[in-house]
Amino acid sequence: MRIAVIGGGASGLACAIEAARAGAQVEILEAADRTGKKILATGNGRCNLSNADIFAEDYNRPAFVQEAMNTLPPEEVQLFFSEMGLLCYQEEEGRIYPYSGKAATVLDLLRLSASEAGAVERCGVRVAAVAAAKDGSWDVRMDDGSTERFDAVVVCVGGNPPKGLLPSDVACKQARPVLAALKCDTRAIKGLSGIRVRARLYLDVDAQDLRDAWLDVADPEHDDVSVGPETRGEVLFRDYGISGIAAFDMSRYVRPGQTVFIDLLPDMDPQEKVDFIYDTAMAHPDRTAVQVMSGMLPSRVARAVVVAAGLNPDEPIIAEQEAVVLAMVSESFGLEVKGIADPKQAQVMRGGYAVKQFDPHTMECIAHPGLYVCGEALDVDGRCGGYNLHWAWTSGMLAGRAAAGIAWQSFAE
Ligand SMILES: Cc1cc2nc3c(=O)[nH]c(=O)nc-3n(C[C@H](O)[C@H](O)[C@H](O)COP(=O)(O)OP(=O)(O)OC[C@H]3O[C@@H](n4cnc5c(N)ncnc54)[C@H](O)[C@@H]3O)c2cc1C
Repeated sequence: MRIAVIGGGASGLACAIEAARAGAQVEILEAADRTGKKILATGNGRCNLSNADIFAEDYNRPAFVQEAMNTLPPEEVQLFFSEMGLLCYQEEEGRIYPYSGKAATVLDLLRLSASEAGAVERCGVRVAAVAAAKDGSWDVRMDDGSTERFDAVVVCVGGNPPKGLLPSDVACKQARPVLAALKCDTRAIKGLSGIRVRARLYLDVDAQDLRDAWLDVADPEHDDVSVGPETRGEVLFRDYGISGIAAFDMSRYVRPGQTVFIDLLPDMDPQEKVDFIYDTAMAHPDRTAVQVMSGMLPSRVARAVVVAAGLNPDEPIIAEQEAVVLAMVSESFGLEVKGIADPKQAQVMRGGYAVKQFDPHTMECIAHPGLYVCGEALDVDGRCGGYNLHWAWTSGMLAGRAAAGIAWQSFAE
């Protein structure tokens, strides 16, 4: 069984290891001068390779991912790495990293394991197209015009598959960058560049509804008024807009022209915010509004909130209604999104081959036996925190086994 693994990135290396271990003759055809270059850049060079809490809902195609994870549960991906000899540790929010703190450790072990299993790396080989041969095997055409025949091909080319790579009946969705910083209307955040806050971001709250809800804030029936997608974590103000994990995650949902709302005090409920602001103001009647808010937020952010609330930053808070407005603005600090700040810096491309054409247990194309696609080349993306690499390993391992003709045997079975 001769298998071409096209692309030696995260999913390609995982696929090659599993296929070669299952006895196939595996060749990794990699366009770059070495395999796994992108892995070295992941997690700021530390490689956030998975997460202790992987849920299908954290991906854009939850039903497909759930089916895949039913066959290959997350614990088995972790076992794949520990059996490889990789020691990992867990950070906050379940993020899993190599204990060495170096992405190179992950890449070195993947390459070593692939080579130990007998897979061969062929770098500097760019594949232009794959086409079905009459006998059920596959012809792989390189961009130098040469063609080679394989029994199966696994396409692991990452987020923006080249046009014409697969047979024309395999639908491929236009890719667009996600998991990236957001370019915003920056008038309200001038002077805040470089400041980090822990926040909740949310979308699609009708501003009038929000205002109306806040006017009822003293009403004990008052509920959380946010609707639509929300993300949590660090927000870093930049001179072009916002960055940080919460902004990256929000880039998976927001479209240019929409307003992202920042809840700057995400762990307090509305009434707690009002009470804290008002009680502090009453206890310290000489303090200005900015001084009161600076006990809750970085002082430059506090000033931006007071200004956005339409209050004089240098005057004290005298009425409860002013505390209500400040609390409201600190929960719904709105920024209009202009787009992705720098598409080249995006961590993931949304789009690729539509999942409905593939068997989620094997990543095999339903219409073309012997043709497999995995990793980011499929239209699957997840949030920050190790989810995208986890998908690359899961889909790669499933495809590798299946292409080598071996059904996945879960240790849980
Ligand atoms: C800066 C950055 C940081 C990231 N950090 C994290 C993180 O910490 N955690 C996380 O979960 N995810 C992270 N990601 C996302 C993660 O790296 C990707 O989701 C993952 O690498 C996708 O794996 P893949 O195998 O599908 O594609 P890739 O890893 O992109 O590999 C594709 C490979 O195919 C090769 N190739 C492409 N076309 C051809 C062709 N025609 N012929 C031959 N070879 C070809 C490419 O050269 C490449 O080596 C990060 C991404 C970036 C950019």
